[in-house]
This record gives sequence, structure tokens and C-alpha cells, in this order.
Amino acid sequence: MVSFVFTASVFVSGVSDSGMSAMVLPFSIFKLILFTCWVYLCLYLVQYVEFSLLVPKKFKTVGKIGTLLTGPICLLLFVVIKAAIRASESGLGMAETIKGQLTELFSNIKGAKIFESRDDGKLTIFDSSGRDISEILTHGKSGGKSPTLKLTEQIIGNALDDRATDILIDPKDGSTYTVRYRVDGVLKVVYDLDTDVCKSVINSIKAVSDMDIADKRRPQDGSFRAQRGGFKVSFRVASAGVIHGEKLSVRVLGRDASQFRLDTIGLSKKQQLMLQRAVEKPSGMILICGPTGSGKTTTMYALLNEIDLNTRNVITVEDPVEYSLPNASQIEINPKADITFAKSLRSILRQDPDVICIGEIRDEETAKIALQASQTGHLVLATIHSNSNAATLLRLMDLGVSQMLLASGLDVIISQRLLRRLCDNCKIKAKLTDSQIHEFRRKKINYHGILDARGCEHCNDTGYYERTAICDILTLNNKLKDTIANSESFIVQLRKVGDKKGQSNMKKQALKKIVGGLTNLKELHRVLG
Ligand SMILES: [Zn+2]
Repeated sequence: MVSFVFTASVFVSGVSDSGMSAMVLPFSIFKLILFTCWVYLCLYLVQYVEFSLLVPKKFKTVGKIGTLLTGPICLLLFVVIKAAIRASESGLGMAETIKGQLTELFSNIKGAKIFESRDDGKLTIFDSSGRDISEILTHGKSGGKSPTLKLTEQIIGNALDDRATDILIDPKDGSTYTVRYRVDGVLKVVYDLDTDVCKSVINSIKAVSDMDIADKRRPQDGSFRAQRGGFKVSFRVASAGVIHGEKLSVRVLGRDASQFRLDTIGLSKKQQLMLQRAVEKPSGMILICGPTGSGKTTTMYALLNEIDLNTRNVITVEDPVEYSLPNASQIEINPKADITFAKSLRSILRQDPDVICIGEIRDEETAKIALQASQTGHLVLATIHSNSNAATLLRLMDLGVSQMLLASGLDVIISQRLLRRLCDNCKIKAKLTDSQIHEFRRKKINYHGILDARGCEHCNDTGYYERTAICDILTLNNKLKDTIANSESFIVQLRKVGDKKGQSNMKKQALKKIVGGLTNLKELHRVLG
């Protein structure tokens, strides 16, 4: 019976052919009909064995069990044959392919469950005060949904389905607009729309974001929210006038932060331990650096998830609040209302926090307050826009922080990048060039496990699914702190040499992930050059 259920779910959970229909149903109707027919055929055969005069009475029980099991065994054979064909196509072993198929099966079942829970309440878009988009667009008059509203909902809903972090709507030329999603840090075009149609979509998003529709030139900011089932997301919108029209950038925010853990974002065991020890300390400062889109915020939330939010008073200051964190006080800065990082920090220091989280250090005042707070009994977590650990030290000094304050306040710097993970469902054995093989042999690296991207329905034909971090962590021990505080030559050297060691640390970590079949060489070159 167990095998019956297992094979049955393999059969039903195949995702349908087009992306659009996959969103309507988590399984293929054709396969469901075939499956139903197959179940009836099995039942008919069991009944046939029961009442047929050709089967002697003493063999009836064995006959019934045999008939019941023939179907699942045939299906199992079908799955194995399918896996064998796939294995010969991809160059991977049978075990690896079956593992991939099982992963696909479970992700499909999981996807179907998430879909069901979202679908029980369809996508609703509303403004920051809770007014529904259709109410705003029709000025309170009742009536059916306009095509513009349907398209707007489709663009937002599909972005959520595709795990997009940004939606970019730009004029391509005088007659068309493109809608692009950023998925796993990479942009892809999802729609080419007629200018007039897209302008209406832009207007509806601007209206629900409380922005001035008539002003198409001046840069504007706004925000809106959406809900599907119990799933709530917020969006931050920015518009600006460009040649051929108006550009709209929508950032997807406010998802649940509890999914980020130190053991799931891609750190090595040693790095996890280093960071766990750092957040256990009552005071000190952990600084996360990297360029835009390098996963700094994700790592910051993974660190926060290591902290018991019930026993330690955690306050975050962010721009914007990207993920919601229950039991933490999250403050969003708003320069228009004069709520800046520095001002918020000064006020929260009066509220006796244990842990302070700073979305981004951008100015001298914020940097100084953060470093001083870390010396006065607070654990400070912050991010800074810089390329390496060495560049972070120099950036803070360029902001006006003294070497002494830097050395006494800062404890750990994490420099990081994100590599796209190969899709488990379709990754194939990499075809390496002779020179690459020669290079691996020279460095005595086992290159046989190196895989490459292919593309399937699960990963929207990109070959990649989600991302993994590579980090270079610098712990400032007493000796290093002493050097930073007192040695002028160290700083001169830092400016001259930069962070070659850090770069090579990250490359080594990336190479380990490539050899382990987690990502590929293209990603290493794309991200680290
Ligand atoms: Zn795939």
C-alpha cells in the first residue's frame, strides 16, 4: 500500500508544460485523468479475479494481492526507466538522478501545498492604509475587474511565484515596455508590453502606492502591500522619468525572516562556529560587508535568528525593513520625516537594548555611534557597502572613524558574495576543457564531481535555484586590534595591497562548492571575476 501511494504521487505530481498553467494547477490534468483510469483498471482486475471462474478459489487471495501490486510495480519500473534515460542524457549516475527526481517530487508536493494555502484567498493588493486596489482604481464604484487590474495582479502574483526580489518596468523604445524580474540576483525579461497597456499598469501601481500619477518626471517613492491566503508581502516602489517614458522599480519586502539560519546560507562548519561564538557575546560589533545584492541582510537575519529574542532586547534600524522578525522592534528610517539612522540610533540607545542591528552604515555619525555602542555593553550587528574586509577598515577610516575607535569597537568583519546554486533537479556533468582539466590536475583537485546548469521546469529553464554564500571572515584578535590602533604603516600597506588574501579565501570556498557540485565555474567567474 505504501508503494502504491508513493508511485501514485510520482505520477500525479508532474508539473504541467507551460509556466502559466503550472500556476493554475500544481499538477497536469492529463496525468490526473490517466491516473484515475489506471486506479479503475486496477480495481476492475481485482474484481475480475474475485468473481472469475477461471481462478481457483484457493488462489483468489494471492491473485488479488498480485493484481493490486502489478500496477505499482509497473509504475516503479516506469520511474526507473525514466531515471535511466535521464542518467544517460545528463552523464550523472543512476543514484544521483533518482535523488534529483525525488527532490523534484518533494518540492512539487511542497509547492502544491504552499499553492493551496495561498490560493484559498486570491491575491489582493492594497495600499498602506488597507484600501483595496480595485476600490482605489474605481474610486469606490463597484464593477468587474478591469484588464489593467488583472494584468497588474498577474505581474505581482507571478513575481511572487518566481521568487523575484525586484520587479523592473522600463520603456524599451517608443512603443514597448519590458517587465523584468530579478530572481537569484539575475534579471530576466518576463513581458514585452505595449506602451499604453504598460502605462496603465504603472498608473495602477503608483495609485495603490500613494504616488502622484500626474507627475511622470520627478522621482517618487511609495509602497503597497499584497496578501494571498495567509501570506503577506510588502512592496517598495520607486518611479523616475526616463527617455521614452517612466521607469518603475518595485522591491519585494517583508517576507518571513525565520527561514534564514547560519547552517543554511552556505557557511562552512568552522565559519558557523566563529559567528555563533561572536553573537553569544554580550557586546562587540559584527560588520557584514559586500556589494549590493551580496546577501548582507540575509546573513544579518541569520545571525539574529541565533539570538534568543525573548531574553535579549533586540532593536533594528533599517532602510527599508526587508523581513519581519517577531519579538524584535524594527524601525524603518524615513529621511523625509527626519528619521535617519543616526537619530534613530541615539533614541534607541536610551531604550536599553541588548542587541542593535543597523541596516547600513553610510555616514560618519552612524559609524561612530555604532562603534561606541559596541564598547558600552551592546552587541551591534551592521552592514556596510564595501568590497572586502580590508576595504571595510579603510571605508570606516575614510568616513572619519579614528584607528583607536575602530580597533576597540570592531570584533568581526564578514565579507561575502552570493553564487547561484545549480538546480538539483537538472544539473548535469560539466564538460571541462583540456586546459581546465590540466589546471585541476596541476592543483591536485578532484574535478570528477563538477557539474553544470541545464534548465528544467522547476528552475524556469535557468539551471539555477536559490543561492549560496561564500564568505571571508576576519576576527579582530588583540594583536590585530593593537596593530590597527597604533601602526600607521599597516594602514598604508592595507591601502597599497588591498585584500588579496580575502579574495583568495573566497575563491577557495567557491572552488570547494564547485567541486562538490553545488555551483559551477561560470558563477565563480561571474561573481568574483
Ligand atoms: Zn532545473
